[in-house]
Amino acid sequence: MILLEKKLEELKETISSYKLCDFCLGLIPYTNSKNLSTIQVGKSIRKQLNLSKINPLNCWLCNGLSDEIPNFIQLIYEKLKEYEYNSFLIGCKVDEEILEREKQFLSKIGVSTTESIFKNHLNREIGKTLEEQLDKEVDFKNPDIIAVIDTSFDVVHLQIKPIYIYGRYIKKSRSIPQTKWFCSLCHGKGCRRCSYSGKLYETSVEELIAAPLLKYTKGEDESFHGCGREDIDVQMLGNGRPFVIEIKNPKKRSIDFDKITEEIKRGNKVSVVNLRYSNREELIRLKKAHFNKIYQAVVECKEAISEEKLKKAVETLQGATIHQFTPTRVAHRRAHLVRNRKIYSCRIESIRDTRATLMIEAESGTYIKELISGDNGNTKPSLSELLGIPCSTVTLDVIEIKGE
Ligand SMILES: [Zn+2]
Ligand SMILES: [Zn+2]
Repeated sequence: MILLEKKLEELKETISSYKLCDFCLGLIPYTNSKNLSTIQVGKSIRKQLNLSKINPLNCWLCNGLSDEIPNFIQLIYEKLKEYEYNSFLIGCKVDEEILEREKQFLSKIGVSTTESIFKNHLNREIGKTLEEQLDKEVDFKNPDIIAVIDTSFDVVHLQIKPIYIYGRYIKKSRSIPQTKWFCSLCHGKGCRRCSYSGKLYETSVEELIAAPLLKYTKGEDESFHGCGREDIDVQMLGNGRPFVIEIKNPKKRSIDFDKITEEIKRGNKVSVVNLRYSNREELIRLKKAHFNKIYQAVVECKEAISEEKLKKAVETLQGATIHQFTPTRVAHRRAHLVRNRKIYSCRIESIRDTRATLMIEAESGTYIKELISGDNGNTKPSLSELLGIPCSTVTLDVIEIKGE
């Protein structure tokens, strides 16, 4: 609702009975206010109605708050200095009493609004000045930083948009878990069992990738989301496993991905490819994705393997749907149920005495070690069952993650 000039004249008595500073006068939705700052609108209303000047410190509505605007701008400016960003948004917290008086005044002149005009204008005036000073843009939808000023305490709180980074990792190690694994005794606090590290393993794929990223972005924390996971003793080779890592409260947003890639590689345990910026949507998509995987399994049998028998077993598995009851080794942390998984292909790479190397392409979520051993009948059919000889996995590697 916007007041016309004539209406404003009619309200002269009422308006002048409130002693308002230029800023607070400028809150009146006025027809001639286009492209003017709040204070300019206030000044033009004052001239129009021939009202005497009021010092903001004596203003009935804001009680001097409007005089503080340059101070707020300076506070936010200083706070934002340490951060790299392209866009920002200003928010403010204003004393309830001021907002009550605003409502009272506006209703007296017949203006009803659901949100505070005072706060809107304060945000707008601060934002406009900072846009020029910082040469950055105000973004209402998806700003890199939201700066909220608490006007009662002169404190600025920042909400910083996280950075999401996509990549694929390759793990040439049989002793590193994918994510940080806290000590089950102390839950990360540190105790004798974990040599006061708080962790069960010295490092993880997550930590090796996060370290340089946190260092360069000066982020506070991270969270790592792999597209599925492999066992600690399983290598992740080939084209790597997709992941998205989220860096929380970063101070720097521009990342030299080549440099990060190099630095991760120098650690010798894990390497990454295809690093790039990502977003929350991709993270969610990745977490839901089910990609087929190709494995290389070195299998050891209790007796020497006959090539003919192995060929037959492998042919049976090819294209078969297997039934896996939750493996004994993970039964304590997974739901007990039977999963049906498809084995897309299975072929022999080599055989020698009691040892064979197999290439297996299987549906996402297949337990390969159990496909080999049979897990005491919990997986059917299995290589052990088909050969009639107990078999176990010596080494297992993920060679390729398909899809994407
Ligand atoms: Zn005022
Ligand atoms: Zn511990």
